[in-house]
Amino acid sequence: MSETSGSVAERFEQLYGSAPEGVWAAPGRVNLIGEHTDYNDGFVMPFALPHTAVAAVSRRDDGVLRLHSADVPGPVAELTVDALVPQSDKRWTAYPAGVVWALREAGHAVTGADVHLASTVPAGAGLSSSAALEVVVALALNDLFGLGLRGWQLARLCQRAENVYVGAPVGIMDQTASACCESGHALFLDTRDLSQRQIPFDLAAEGMRLLVVDTRVKHSHSEGEYGKRRAGCEKGAALLGMDALRDVPAGELDAALERLGDEEEVRRLVRHVVTEDARVERVVRLLESGETRAIGPVLVEGHASLRDDFRISCPELDLVVDTALAAGALGARMTGGGFGGSAIVLVEEADVAAVTKAVEEAFAAAGFASPRVFEAVPSAGARRVR
Ligand code: ADP
Ligand code: MG
Repeated sequence: MSETSGSVAERFEQLYGSAPEGVWAAPGRVNLIGEHTDYNDGFVMPFALPHTAVAAVSRRDDGVLRLHSADVPGPVAELTVDALVPQSDKRWTAYPAGVVWALREAGHAVTGADVHLASTVPAGAGLSSSAALEVVVALALNDLFGLGLRGWQLARLCQRAENVYVGAPVGIMDQTASACCESGHALFLDTRDLSQRQIPFDLAAEGMRLLVVDTRVKHSHSEGEYGKRRAGCEKGAALLGMDALRDVPAGELDAALERLGDEEEVRRLVRHVVTEDARVERVVRLLESGETRAIGPVLVEGHASLRDDFRISCPELDLVVDTALAAGALGARMTGGGFGGSAIVLVEEADVAAVTKAVEEAFAAAGFASPRVFEAVPSAGARRVR
């Protein structure tokens, strides 16, 4: 399900007059479990989608950065690498330009590039089309300029590009997933020290499927709400005298909640983060011991926690989860930042059609826009394809 590298290379040649030096691909991701834990130094467990951003790239040595996307109408954008200013660009070009800015700021001699890209990662669906864009450009420049950076280091620089240059306060999960995932696996990532472990997650081999249901809605207050949740988590850690909520052991949750007294909202946020970290660890144990079906109820618990404690679900996401479970799914939960975006549904292979139909019918009956349902096969992370 990736753009063919050939068509991207051909278009590059039409735009820039010569063949690209290479073509790279980087995937979007789905987070299996571990939501809103990444800015609390906690655990996450994403896997890569077959959908990728593909970039054809050539080096330049004259300080010029030319950018073009097959998915955005308009001419080639021409920038100058030593005149890149954080938060000066509100267009899509801020993502690749931010990567160049972050690399140069870290002392890497990136002297310009011609870039043409195309992506099959749905944008704004909570599947990290932005990280795919950043990581594919970072990997291309890493290879072309011989920077020798590892996947996790590229992820860090891409996060910095998005935080500082684009101006979006995102955690480290999306970029690490896009850079480091392996096919047939989910990535268990400790966002504190960035240590990672590949966890076998080959559903097809066990007769199951994982569906992604893109609700196609993004409620407009989502960014402000994200900031509030983040600030509330920081407040909780400060009140508890911890660096981050990651430091509250699950066994000491009740005592911690007690200490938060009548800070009702902070208590809810803390309870979500602490129980969610524990859920990630449970899912890791279950997958590593081959009890894959048993992760279903853990996903459902995670959804309830996001809905009731963290309060970032929405009617569309709740409808996917409730309908899928009623139609026989093993588990389901919202995934990503919340207030729209996508949900994931774990189903027996034999139930895929029935569950899909039930969700589509429920959306029609509720008067919601029809959702996009597709199967997510745990796929490879960023790589050179040509
Ligand atoms: P998500 O990462 O969840 O898809 P974001 O809001 O973080 O959502 O990123 C979406 C943005 O990324 C788009 O608004 C656009 O600026 C950029 N983007 C994604 N895909 C492409 C693409 N194929 N071409 C150009 N820009 C893209
Ligand atoms: Mg994004």
